[in-house]
Amino acid sequence: MLSRAIPRSVLRSTAASSSSSFRASNIYLGRQSRRWYASEAEEKDLVIVGGGVAGYVAAIKAGQSGLKVACIEKRGTLGGTCLNVGCIPSKSLLNNSHLLHTIQHDTKNRGIEVGDIKLNLDVMMKAKDTSVQGLTKGVEFLFKKNNVEYIKGTGAFKDEHTIAVNLNDGGETEVKGKNIFIATGSESTPFPGLTINEENVITSTGAIALKKVPKKMVVIGGGIIGLEMGSVWSRLGSEVTVVEFLGQIGGPGMDQEISKQIQKMLAKQGMKFKLNTKVTKGDASAESIKINVEAAKGGKEELLDADVVLVAIGRRPYTAGLGLENIGLDVDERGRLVIDQEYRTKIPHIRAIGDVTFGPMLAHKAEEEGVAAVEFITKNYGHVNYNAIPSVMYTHPEVAWVGQNEQELKAQGVKYKIGSFPFSANSRAKTNLDTEGMVKFITDAETDRILGVHIVGPNAGEMIAEGTLALEYGASAEDVGRTSHAHPTLSEAFKEAAMAAYGKAIHY
Ligand SMILES: Cc1cc2nc3c(=O)[nH]c(=O)nc-3n(C[C@H](O)[C@H](O)[C@H](O)COP(=O)(O)OP(=O)(O)OC[C@H]3O[C@@H](n4cnc5c(N)ncnc54)[C@H](O)[C@@H]3O)c2cc1C
Repeated sequence: MLSRAIPRSVLRSTAASSSSSFRASNIYLGRQSRRWYASEAEEKDLVIVGGGVAGYVAAIKAGQSGLKVACIEKRGTLGGTCLNVGCIPSKSLLNNSHLLHTIQHDTKNRGIEVGDIKLNLDVMMKAKDTSVQGLTKGVEFLFKKNNVEYIKGTGAFKDEHTIAVNLNDGGETEVKGKNIFIATGSESTPFPGLTINEENVITSTGAIALKKVPKKMVVIGGGIIGLEMGSVWSRLGSEVTVVEFLGQIGGPGMDQEISKQIQKMLAKQGMKFKLNTKVTKGDASAESIKINVEAAKGGKEELLDADVVLVAIGRRPYTAGLGLENIGLDVDERGRLVIDQEYRTKIPHIRAIGDVTFGPMLAHKAEEEGVAAVEFITKNYGHVNYNAIPSVMYTHPEVAWVGQNEQELKAQGVKYKIGSFPFSANSRAKTNLDTEGMVKFITDAETDRILGVHIVGPNAGEMIAEGTLALEYGASAEDVGRTSHAHPTLSEAFKEAAMAAYGKAIHY
């Protein structure tokens, strides 16, 4: 079965070294001091270090493809940053804090009058934990279903084919792999001078678990994570100030026009912004934290105070304790593992996928790479289109985009056309009393091929899937504009923006 699934050349290329290292491992058989596991007796086709989105998806795909696979995860639960402390818990809090905010500020206009409204933060946190537990257990179930061996512990390279594992429940073991994937993910980048305690000086991990609503919160970094967590606590009652070094929020990938619009909307909801501003130092020695800021280009210093400071200046690849030095693997100046087009490090049977290597730090990008990297082993080909990876910011309204933005195209000197359509002219958005925002298409001026789609508005995160599909298939704006979209739906705004790019929208 195995030799049918895997090209012989791949098996051959690893066979010689793997059999010698297998023999070497037998030397340890008699030692009493370490635990011996059945898994050690055989060499796996694939060993994956890290059970985050990249690692667990690769493990399931490998199991489905008939490979003998083991996945080592130290957290005690599967799903990595995304399921445990990232995408999922943050979206739970975003959803439920939005509900609270809507009931407090919006339902009255819709004829729904509610009596006393109270936040029960404990219950809101429990609801989040329930979602997380359900999903992480779900991955464990999928491991069993697909014959993936799950090893709970911290893995480190002993040699090019052997991972030594410190087991979470004590003891140690070793696993050998013909192929090894490094999928150890990323961690929050620290801010020099501010020591994270996850209580009042926090990363996103602390921000999804605060025990009470801070009166004042300063968010250092106006990227997606900072804005999402900032909006949660702003809706729950904090006075939130976001300090951002760049001249726009949302990070450089967000189209500038869209970024300006969402900033206005978030400001209307109560968030404060200090753009082109840098934090020079922070002092968290007293209960009230002091944050010194000044213009990014230099200027007069200002002092901000806060009960809680959220450090959200980005994430960096995580390879601590992995024993890369034991196999002579290096990381680049940003801590990323260097790989080729097939995710191979300079040791060809060791691949790196997800946040630990190049590309956007996004769960769905990690997932695509998990599948592709396994396919490179089993079929000798794999596919990820890095030009069609969508980004979503789950504020209200949401911001979503795929492809290139206007500022990037201008910098490249590409001639482009714009077609946009406001939700205020869309019948469903009007019916829902949720009309803020727009859809914006950017197309090649000569060919009409779609170069980018940018949305700020209700349900943008779902709607961007259509833009991603269009980009993946090399569609023109006319292809989308001539496709029937159900009425009344928000997606009609998508169709009309496409129509505006090559001709004229009907309803605007
Ligand atoms: C607050 C927040 C919100 C986010 N929201 C989104 C979102 O909405 N959408 C989105 O696409 N992305 C989001 N992300 C990003 C997303 O979480 C990551 O891109 C994704 O988790 C990367 O997957 P990964 O498998 O590469 O790494 P990770 O998920 O970080 O998984 C790596 C795993 O490896 C384990 N590990 C590390 N070293 C070892 C070792 N030596 N031995 C054993 N195990 C080890 C770690 O414990 C970890 O579980 C968010 C991130 C954060 C922090």
